[in-house]
Amino acid sequence: MKIYEMTDEQRIKLLLDGGYIDQKQAELLRSRQTISTDLADSLSENQIGSFSLPYGFATDFLVDGQDYLVPMVIEEPSVVAAASNAAKRIKNSGGFKTYPTSRIVYGQIVLENVTVEEIAKLEQNDSEIFAFAQQAHPSLIKRGGGIVSLKFNHYDQFEEIELGIDTVDAMGANMVNTILEKTSQKLATMISGDVLCSILSNSGQGQIITVEANVEYNQLATKTMSGEEVAQRIVKLADFAKKSVKRAITHNKGIMNGIDAVLIATGNDFRAQEAAAHSFAFESGQYQPFTEWHLADGKLVGTLKMPIELGSVGGAIKAMPMAQLSLAMMKIQNSQQLQSVVGAVGLANNLSALRALVTTGIQAGHMGLQSKSLAIAAGAIGPEIEQVAKKLNQTKNYTLQNAENILMELRGK
Ligand code: NDP
Repeated sequence: MKIYEMTDEQRIKLLLDGGYIDQKQAELLRSRQTISTDLADSLSENQIGSFSLPYGFATDFLVDGQDYLVPMVIEEPSVVAAASNAAKRIKNSGGFKTYPTSRIVYGQIVLENVTVEEIAKLEQNDSEIFAFAQQAHPSLIKRGGGIVSLKFNHYDQFEEIELGIDTVDAMGANMVNTILEKTSQKLATMISGDVLCSILSNSGQGQIITVEANVEYNQLATKTMSGEEVAQRIVKLADFAKKSVKRAITHNKGIMNGIDAVLIATGNDFRAQEAAAHSFAFESGQYQPFTEWHLADGKLVGTLKMPIELGSVGGAIKAMPMAQLSLAMMKIQNSQQLQSVVGAVGLANNLSALRALVTTGIQAGHMGLQSKSLAIAAGAIGPEIEQVAKKLNQTKNYTLQNAENILMELRGK
């Protein structure tokens, strides 16, 4: 039986039998009570409930030789299906290869009204400042991370001290802020001017990852188009995104569909990722797509390059049982492994979107899956949902009015 044809209970059993989750996690999923009131209260303010989103998983991800089921949290139909669909085509072609670089988070201490003499003094004492910052979070050094760079930048009346910090497996925002604030106290004793602020940068420049996939032409063919033709059309559309900002934005939105869904499922700060991604897209001065596609050696070659700002520990990740479940499902050992999987999902969603756009168009698959939401919006319940959705797909008239008419007919009204 195909996973998408299973009931949710059958899917939970599949995860359990496959060793992806344990009995306790299966019970957590079945309970549909994934966050306690105490936890909700501790995570955010003025809470009055919890807001649920569908939690599912994408299949067939072969990343750096390892198979993954990838948990995704998303309210938009077709994102999980699209990720799984492209992942399978890529798996059949050898899988994803990923090239993470570093895990550096940059932080800024901004000083104001510092004299030229004081700046010179700070620069002369850079190793002392570096050593002080290093000692501000000693456990990070024990974990193999810590301060890796210190730079002075001048901006008119401002002087910035930029620290590069390897936060190992944590996203690192709190850690970096703690280090910066402690270091700024030391700096305050060395200058007459003011410490305006100390805060990490979400630039993501130290967390850029490259993900590649070589896709066999035969994996791309449709009923009416050869795989090679589909590949050529994908390359053209991806090239167009380099020229048209409007297209590039939507191209990237499709990539973020997958990336954000995994970040939410793993309890990560997706706003940080969004901020990093936006700035990277504009790095050259013209907004650019995160992926590039070309033909080489009889294959379609796709490359995603972008910052992926996340952690596999820290923040809300440890506290949220569902985030722990997601990490367990993927058997995540460290943050770079999670970055690799997230990058692969981004590339997979991009391939699915491009393939659909240059062949049948996006609506053919999208509306087919949207039909269930439309059925529910029309008031369908239980088995009616599937029946109304099926009729909507047959009529291909995806309007609320049509869904309501079909439901009334079904109920004999
Ligand atoms: P934490 O403050 O939770 O720090 C990470 C924790 O993980 C530390 O307690 C650390 O322990 C522990 N840890 C365990 N194992 C490891 C390991 N292998 N590598 C690294 N740390 C490990 O979280 P972060 O500093 O990651 O901050 C993330 C949070 O900050 C998110 O919730 C985010 O929303 C929030 N935030 C984001 C901002 C932004 O993006 N602009 C601004 C402010 C907050 P130990 O201390 O013993 O080393």
